[in-house]
Amino acid sequence: MISVIGAGPAGSFYAYKEKHDDVTIFEEHKTCGDPVACTGILTDSVKQFVDIPRNLIVSKIRKFKMVSPNGKEMYIDLKKENLVLDRARFDRFILDKALDKGVKINLGEKFLGYKKSGKGYSIKTSKRTYDTSMIVGADGPFSQVARSTGIYGNRTFVKGWQARCKFPNLEPGVTEIHLNLGEFSWVVPEDDKIARVGVIGIDNTKLKSDYKKLLGASKVIEDQSGYIPVYNPKQRLRKENVFLIGDAATQVKATTYGGILYGMIAGNYLAMDKEDYISNVNKKLAKDLWVSLKMREMMNSMSEKQANEMIEIFRKKSNTDILSNHDRNFPSKFIVQLLMKEAKLWKLGFSIFRNRVFGKKGMEEMFIK
Ligand SMILES: Cc1cc2nc3c(=O)[nH]c(=O)nc-3n(C[C@H](O)[C@H](O)[C@H](O)COP(=O)(O)OP(=O)(O)OC[C@H]3O[C@@H](n4cnc5c(N)ncnc54)[C@H](O)[C@@H]3O)c2cc1C
Repeated sequence: MISVIGAGPAGSFYAYKEKHDDVTIFEEHKTCGDPVACTGILTDSVKQFVDIPRNLIVSKIRKFKMVSPNGKEMYIDLKKENLVLDRARFDRFILDKALDKGVKINLGEKFLGYKKSGKGYSIKTSKRTYDTSMIVGADGPFSQVARSTGIYGNRTFVKGWQARCKFPNLEPGVTEIHLNLGEFSWVVPEDDKIARVGVIGIDNTKLKSDYKKLLGASKVIEDQSGYIPVYNPKQRLRKENVFLIGDAATQVKATTYGGILYGMIAGNYLAMDKEDYISNVNKKLAKDLWVSLKMREMMNSMSEKQANEMIEIFRKKSNTDILSNHDRNFPSKFIVQLLMKEAKLWKLGFSIFRNRVFGKKGMEEMFIK
């Protein structure tokens, strides 16, 4: 038996694609998909992996409106619309695909740990023990599989404070990203009255007060907050026949902190060939994960003045066009194009780099007078 820990998109998609005929998923919650801690945005690339039924799509994003700290706006018209999904139903949809193939699910059963037993392993859950030949840790940011295997590594997290709420002045189809709260904040309309509204960053009192500011007097319908692991290029993905995928493997792109698609891609590679899983997943994802991480580190080092400058640069049509036409899941494909076309980005990049070396305040005092 292959044991998959976690019925999120990574675990269920892996189970769906796995050719072995004896696969069991263990999910600690009694229902799959709840509680939701996600905005549910997916780019068009998801269609390469699954056709998304209409009833899972809550709304579509045609346009991103980015707002700089000084209030300047830029718009990115998406060549291909993004989907805003009912995340709980999406998780159940992927799980159902696996179940239709004969995969078994044990709900309300928490993985606690394992020990070696004969040629395989004996796993211990909150209910009993099972013999298994392979363990797939798809158990999210704080992966108990990674901990039990001794490959948890040195991971860090950001917190996404998010609520589904009644929010004023919504423009359906237009998602707003603001750069003045947390690392960034978002307003993603479901329709003209309800939105998924959130802010992300290192979990501290400042972030919580930014969140309160963002919500203002809006009426919260559901809290959807959660933690996201920051990609760690040194994260181990395998020890013997124990593998990690998705958030458990820190496979999240740090620019937007989206991880659904990457988790599914990793699951797909693991199902295709476990011996080549690491090299395949590295070939497909490592470059973009790394580029996203570096972009995020640069953005987090920006002063307000530099954030304003960045938006000003991207207001230029030729630059916006590059962003409109590319899937942001794979930034390595367009970052070079942008750098080739826009000399001001080099200048900005260099001044942010100086921030990183000397600290934001010091640089503003020394150079930006
Ligand atoms: C506020 C917020 C907004 C986000 N927005 C987006 C977005 O718009 N787009 C996007 O792509 N990503 C987004 N993400 C990230 C996305 O939610 C994750 O990257 C994605 O859920 C990872 O999928 P996964 O299957 O790896 O892990 P998870 O979805 O976390 O699934 C792990 C599963 O394992 C189960 N589990 C955990 N421990 C155990 C155990 N010991 N035993 C049994 N079961 C266990 C959990 O209950 C869970 O069902 C967001 C995250 C947050 C917090």
